[in-house]
Amino acid sequence: MSDTAANLRAQFPLLAAAPELHYLDSAATAQIHRAALDAVVSHETTRRANVMRGTYRLAEAADLAYEQARQSAARFLNAGSAGEIVFTPGATASLNLVAHAFGSTLKAGDRVLVSVAEHHSNFVPWQMLRDRCGIELAPIPVGADGRLDLTRLSELMGDRCRLVAVTQCSNVTGAWTDVATIVAAARKVGAKVLLDGAQAVQHGPQDVRAMDIDFYAFSGHKCFGPGGVGVLWGRAEALARMPPFLGGGGMIAEVTPEASTWAAPPQRFEAGTPPIAQAIGLAAALDWMMTLDWTAIREREDALCQQLIEGLARIPGLRLLGPQHAHHCEARAPIVSFDIPDLHPHDICQVLDAQNLALRGGHHCAQPLLAALGAEACTRASIALYNGEADIEALLAGLDRARRELA
Ligand code: PLP
Repeated sequence: MSDTAANLRAQFPLLAAAPELHYLDSAATAQIHRAALDAVVSHETTRRANVMRGTYRLAEAADLAYEQARQSAARFLNAGSAGEIVFTPGATASLNLVAHAFGSTLKAGDRVLVSVAEHHSNFVPWQMLRDRCGIELAPIPVGADGRLDLTRLSELMGDRCRLVAVTQCSNVTGAWTDVATIVAAARKVGAKVLLDGAQAVQHGPQDVRAMDIDFYAFSGHKCFGPGGVGVLWGRAEALARMPPFLGGGGMIAEVTPEASTWAAPPQRFEAGTPPIAQAIGLAAALDWMMTLDWTAIREREDALCQQLIEGLARIPGLRLLGPQHAHHCEARAPIVSFDIPDLHPHDICQVLDAQNLALRGGHHCAQPLLAALGAEACTRASIALYNGEADIEALLAGLDRARRELA
């Protein structure tokens, strides 16, 4: 079967059952692929048992499937080994894990750089760490187009920067981060680099080794897998030096009444029963993604993004957030946020919903970014591989109607 949008759409049970739906909110949650759903059901009905505990055959089958899921995630990220993959409940949990575990190795006066463009999930945990431990937190500013302004990067890092924690792709503007420049600057002062890949993963497999970063976080529900599961990838040597974040079953070497010692990574960071079926479902989604022609898909996503941006440009007074120049689709993932004067994004989204258009309006958990761009809220259309021209045409027609109805 070819990778046309219609063929791809047919592989998503919710979309296949709702042909009238124009789903343009994949940046919030992408739809789940049939293979992921099937893998969850198959696991729950044939292999359901706890992992890393039982010695009976059912438990061994669950163990095997769970560890194979780790291998799929490692292949998707081109990680050095499956042992570098930690399953978590999602990107937020992965980011908090680093803020706690790596964070506990930092001293007062050490510096962490985030950016103004972060989702709150990669902002608030660092503020909490600062308040706990007295680290310095320095936000990298953004330019008028929402992209990270790296002109003063070395100055911001100073000589005590230990970590740069930034998004790979903004969930509001879609702007891609210049990761290579950040990694080069970080290496000069011996700082590590954490990338929040939450918005990048639905646009294709990643290569953490080629990017030469240290940590990578993402959620399963944003890359066609189930909710409730995510991944933290960390370089083996970085994970090995970190103490655990949560304590409980599965993460120890030995417990005595007096003290405990820790298991090696990744188990050290997987306290308690992990999201087993969800990890297996996620692996099925990642395996499926790795079979696709991503050059063709990205070209199609870019064309839809261009079609949308050109259509939006015809709306009087509309302000497009994010990269503005002629080849903006190269600078952004297909996430397009805009503001129409005198129309509240929530009202716009309600009128659009009545026309079977699912979009999100609000601050998108990125209040520092919106403040920097001079907006309180905006409407966001996010395009994924199952969207087609009809979705964009419906959105542009829907916006005309919203402007008429809300005027
Ligand atoms: N980081 C970015 C860039 C996001 O867009 C999101 C969710 O929208 C997150 C982190 C948090 O993801 P989750 O809510 O799945 O933990």
